[in-house]
Parts: sequence; C-alpha cells; structure tokens
Amino acid sequence: MALCGAVALTAQSQPQKPDQPVEKWTGKTILLIGAHADDDALSHGTLAMLQAHGNQVYIVTLTTGNVGTQDPQLSRLQLAEIRRTEELAALKELSIPPDHYINLGYDDGMLEFEDHKAVVENLVFWIRKLRPDVLFAWDPGKVYQRWHKADHRAAAYLAADAARAAMWRLLFEGQISQQGLKEFTIPEYMFYNDYDYEDENLWVDISGFAEKRIRADANYVSQFGPGWNKYNPNPGQEEINAMRALIKERIRTRDGRPIEGFRYYRGLPDAIGK
Ligand SMILES: [Zn+2]
Repeated sequence: MALCGAVALTAQSQPQKPDQPVEKWTGKTILLIGAHADDDALSHGTLAMLQAHGNQVYIVTLTTGNVGTQDPQLSRLQLAEIRRTEELAALKELSIPPDHYINLGYDDGMLEFEDHKAVVENLVFWIRKLRPDVLFAWDPGKVYQRWHKADHRAAAYLAADAARAAMWRLLFEGQISQQGLKEFTIPEYMFYNDYDYEDENLWVDISGFAEKRIRADANYVSQFGPGWNKYNPNPGQEEINAMRALIKERIRTRDGRPIEGFRYYRGLPDAIGK
C-alpha cells in the first residue's frame, strides 16, 4: 500500500534520546493515552514535573474503568463516577487542570472488542486537536509485540495506530474538511510499561516530585488497598498512610534516586516498534 514506502528509512537514523533532558523540558504539549484512570499513575512524577516546568499535560483515558472492582455492591455507573472523581483528585495533586482530562467513555475490560477504526478516529481527533509534542502511551513493543493485560495491549496499539493515522491528511479527512483540524505528526514518544522494563532507554529523575506522585496516587481508593474489595469513599488517616507507604515502596530507584523509566522514541510513527 502506498502509505508504507516513504517512512521506513527515517527512524533508524534518528538519535533515540531527546535533545534536552526531560527534566529541562518546557513549553511543550504532552499527551498521555491510557486505558484506565490510573494508567497515568506510572508517570505521575514525570507529569507533575512537566506541568510544574511550564508544559501543558493532557490525559486521554479510553475507558471509564467501570468494571474493575471486587466490591459486590458497586454498579457500573457508580464505579465510573468513582473512577472519574479519583482521577480528577489525583491530577489536582499534580496541578493538572480538570479540563485536561478527557475520557472517551468506552467500557472497561472490553477495549479490544470495540470498533478499532472508530476508536482510532476518536484518538486521531484528539491528537489533531491538541497537537502534542510528546505522546506517552503503553509500549506496543520494540520489534516484537509486547504482552500487556487486555485493555493495556489494546490501548498500546490504538495509540500507535492513531499516531500514525493522524499524520495522513486523507485519513479521517472529514475532521480536516469539516471540523477545522489539520493533520499532525507527533515527533516524540515516551512508552511506559508496568513490570518488564528491558526496553527502557530513558530514566526521568523525579526527585522533588515523588511526594506529589504519592499524594496523587493515594486518591485511587477504589483501586488500591481495602477499597478494592469494599469501597469506602472516606478512608481513615491510617488507611491513607498505609496506601501512601505502599505507593512509596513501588517507586523505582536508580543510583539511589527516585525514577520513572520509559522507552523513548523520536521519529515517524510507522517505526515506533523498530
Ligand atoms: Zn489500567
């Protein structure tokens, strides 16, 4: 197909590190695409730092998170509302404004069975509208497809496919001819993983922002700790402290400093797995 040829040669020649260390970035638009409220939590130290340094951080979450609980009392609607409230509270700790949180409203747990083209079109809309300098997304894999649990692997490929589609003027051209948008090529990518870090090539020093991450992540009461089995909207201070201690324990370190790791990629979206 004609879209294949032009881009294959360009990726390998690009240096796979940013011009400036992430710790020095300013004035950039950052977009994170995740499947669930809290997928961004893996990057919260980095996002807090970027927001504090004069970048604009946006979060697009594909599902409402309306399924993931073991509490038999919660309905889908209640859970979706809880997850939204928790996400907005977490982002507030990072100083990310509430209107920078965009939820696309798909059902939790079923992302890979949605109409792929429709979801990609939806993501392309936001990419063309926000025109991010950097996309954070689940890592779709380097050379080989990476295994993630269901919604995460769907989100990884949907984000990658949307990044690619956004650059072609004649794909989803109604957005351009009717909605005032323009095609857009995302230049830089930060791919995140949750337990296998072997493809990482960039580690962001989050010293000074780890505490913000801990405070932010302790808002996901329905996802961590006792709220998973029995949701309590107002946990006691002891429970909050226990959550914070657990979150602190999970923050990774390198040479004694708190870090978040990524697979950084710069180049055309066709080659993000090379
Ligand atoms: Zn998730």
